[in-house]
Amino acid sequence: MTTVPLRRAVLLVLREKAEVVHSDSTGAVLHSSTMAFSVPSVIRLLRYIRVPYRRRIPLTRVALMRRDGYHCAYCDRRAETIDHVIPRSRGGQHVWENVVAACRSCNHRKADRLLEELGWKLRVTPTVPRGIHWRLINGDHHTDPLWAPYMARVKV
Ligand SMILES: [Zn+2]
Repeated sequence: MTTVPLRRAVLLVLREKAEVVHSDSTGAVLHSSTMAFSVPSVIRLLRYIRVPYRRRIPLTRVALMRRDGYHCAYCDRRAETIDHVIPRSRGGQHVWENVVAACRSCNHRKADRLLEELGWKLRVTPTVPRGIHWRLINGDHHTDPLWAPYMARVKV
């Protein structure tokens, strides 16, 4: 199970590389000059083909909190904020390897200082998450209800 843009899903069906399992619940129909076509919501590939995807998982708040399990990287309490390990004001980048979930208190105490300056240590090394389920997490906000039974098979 993976998600693909609608345009790609339609092309896969038109090229007979996939079949429609569920049409879109809104009953939307696409029209071309020669045919009408129910908007697919779930398609099944008829044979394995590689579905290309962006190599790097987009860094979002939701995805970061999932990666770190809502645990503060410094004290393990519940995290509500995003902390740049090397502060942006000190040249730190907004990338997976430099962001961690942090509680408000640690984030506030750390401010724009480096860990060495505070004598703090990270509980975990921040890394780029890998695996197809990370793409689904970022799609949470526009998940079609019809996808639920398929999504359930993906361990998130
Ligand atoms: Zn904390």
